[in-house]
Amino acid sequence: MLIVDAHEDIASNVLRHGRDVRLPVNETRRRERERVPPPRNPRTGMSDTAMLGLPEHRRGGVGLVFATIFVPPGEQEAVTADGWAQLRYYHELAAQADAGVRLVYSRGQLDGLLRDWHAAPATTPDERPVGLTLLLEGADPLREPADLEEWYREGLRLVGLAWRQTRYAGGTRAPGPLTDRGRALLAEMARLGVVLDTSHLAEESFWQALELFSGTVIASHANCRAFVPTDRQLSDDMIRAIAARDGVIGAVLANDFLVHGWTRESPPVTLADVVRHIDHICQLTGSARHCGIGSDFDGGFGVESTPRELDSVADLGLLAGALAAAGYSEDDVAGILGGNWLRLLERALPAG
Ligand SMILES: [Zn+2]
Repeated sequence: MLIVDAHEDIASNVLRHGRDVRLPVNETRRRERERVPPPRNPRTGMSDTAMLGLPEHRRGGVGLVFATIFVPPGEQEAVTADGWAQLRYYHELAAQADAGVRLVYSRGQLDGLLRDWHAAPATTPDERPVGLTLLLEGADPLREPADLEEWYREGLRLVGLAWRQTRYAGGTRAPGPLTDRGRALLAEMARLGVVLDTSHLAEESFWQALELFSGTVIASHANCRAFVPTDRQLSDDMIRAIAARDGVIGAVLANDFLVHGWTRESPPVTLADVVRHIDHICQLTGSARHCGIGSDFDGGFGVESTPRELDSVADLGLLAGALAAAGYSEDDVAGILGGNWLRLLERALPAG
């Protein structure tokens, strides 16, 4: 089974935090333990133990990742330059013969990835290619909506308008409507066939976007507001609306997104807490077709802040057992771990 993870901030970890995703996770951890002073998360002041490394992706069967271009708010030219640097990084990574990474921005490339991935015997996971589909998290690197076409030519296929507030939309903890620029960007996305990622959209912007935008809609990384009542998570109505568009919602594997009010002093969070969110979506929508994984591993938190069964991205497959224990069929489990995202990409990517 090929697992899809719909949200990993790989480029920003490399370019901003000096990590190297080509290394095994333990090597990254060793380097960071020895770094003086040790790296600290600016938000929590604590160290975050890395979970992403391409050897672990391969070993765990994680064959396709939505790899983000993520730039926090800042001065326009710097934000645009940072976004381009991340886009170029992915191209450079894919150009390295020994990295075993390829960019996936057409159906032809997706089919090729699946063919080659399944052809590599499970006994030699090193030969499995890892596909990256590029996702812009927060649209501010685009100076203007018209810039999208150039980014599209460079392989960008998914765009989230917001993170916090952006020049395009209201975002997390920044309520508000779409801006005129946001409306124009949605029109450009629809014209080019770019997927809309609604994660981080302020609720007012979310509903406006769904009404305006006729293309494919997802939430790459968001959980249920029913359990974690913050504006960063999806209300039941938002979940139903994404499902009504045959979209998919990626479960975030951060403890504070799984259990409301979680801190490092709280009792351990487990994969059963992840299943609780997934099951809520399945019950609301009457189907297991709209759930996937969007781990957000290394997205500002580390292994200390993830369910206790997980040590690295290699462990994503453990979710299969937790879902089976909750009564999910083999087909449903395969869909949630990857099949649902693959079906959506088959529909959304250009033929190519
Ligand atoms: Zn995010």
